[in-house]
Amino acid sequence: MEEYGKLVDSFGRVARKLRLSVIDKCNFRCNFCMPETPEWLPNEKVLTFEEIGRIVDMLSRFGVDRVRITGGEPLVRKGVEQLVSKLRSNSRVKRLGLTTNGYFLKEKADALYNAGLDSVTVSLHSLRADRFAFVTQRNAHSRVIEGIRAAKDAGFQSVKINSVIVRGYNDDEIVDFASLAAEGGFNVRFIEFMPFDGQRHWGMEKVVPGAEILSRISSKYRLVPLEREPGSTATNYKFEDSTGEIGIITSITRPFCSDCDRLRLTADGKLVPCLFDTHEYDLSGLLRGGATDPEIHEFLRSKVKLKSAGVESLINNSYDLQHVRPMYRTGG
Ligand code: SAM
Ligand code: SF4
Repeated sequence: MEEYGKLVDSFGRVARKLRLSVIDKCNFRCNFCMPETPEWLPNEKVLTFEEIGRIVDMLSRFGVDRVRITGGEPLVRKGVEQLVSKLRSNSRVKRLGLTTNGYFLKEKADALYNAGLDSVTVSLHSLRADRFAFVTQRNAHSRVIEGIRAAKDAGFQSVKINSVIVRGYNDDEIVDFASLAAEGGFNVRFIEFMPFDGQRHWGMEKVVPGAEILSRISSKYRLVPLEREPGSTATNYKFEDSTGEIGIITSITRPFCSDCDRLRLTADGKLVPCLFDTHEYDLSGLLRGGATDPEIHEFLRSKVKLKSAGVESLINNSYDLQHVRPMYRTGG
């Protein structure tokens, strides 16, 4: 079977992971993600499962062997479990995960597990139903908790919980989230708020730095740092006295851009090498225009070369962080 070498950017970073958005639509309206009136892609622009399969096949021959399905809300995409089976049948894909808001997980967890999905990450930004409803604009807290339980019951070894921490909104729940990890045996990941909110309310004053998150948790729990996997966005810790883990994703205050190994593909087939890239590259147009495999390989090699240094260099050079595109459009 033909392999094509690696996709290497101009800073020597090798692409290994793909964040694959399968839909931009979402049934939630998280206020740190969506604009007030989102404009959805017309259906015909969204890549078909066959097109996604072809792109993942090519990327996997370049050594991209970890794929995370995301969106928008990936479980809103009809038949997403069929896409999971399709990607699972590619033996070069070593890890296949999915990030979801959890709303449809209760119904879908078994099918996703049976289709061969390895892991699920559920976003949960408050442990209080009223706050959850405020941020997502959906009264769905108990359904999401049921979804998390259903994922565990379906047999997933790894069920992570993502919580975006926004100062003044949920930072008073940091220790409660740590308790959920410690007492429920979960891996809870605390994410610094990034400037990709559709309503453009982001500001540095709303970012709770990872160091502060760590210090608040350490006031209650003894944490043991775990070795950081190269390319990982998170610094992970286990609890000295219990089974759960926490991860702190310091996308703004300590972004680890220097060994970033991710690429992103939007639902309409645009390649986004870095979340902070202002450019995106139209893979869909090429694919639908009848390009041959070698033409697409050349496109991938050349566009990955254009990946920007990332947020680290923006901060080091004192640039103001700019809103580029809302998270639901890129695929977080
Ligand atoms: N709808 C799914 C969900 O919410 O999990 C998947 C897509 S969502 C865009 C992917 C992840 O990005 C979620 O964990 C979400 O909380 C996170 N996210 C969204 N907007 C963000 C922002 N402005 N800063 C940091 N993380 C954000
Ligand atoms: Fe939807 Fe996820 Fe964005 Fe919330 S974070 S609006 S669930 S895409």
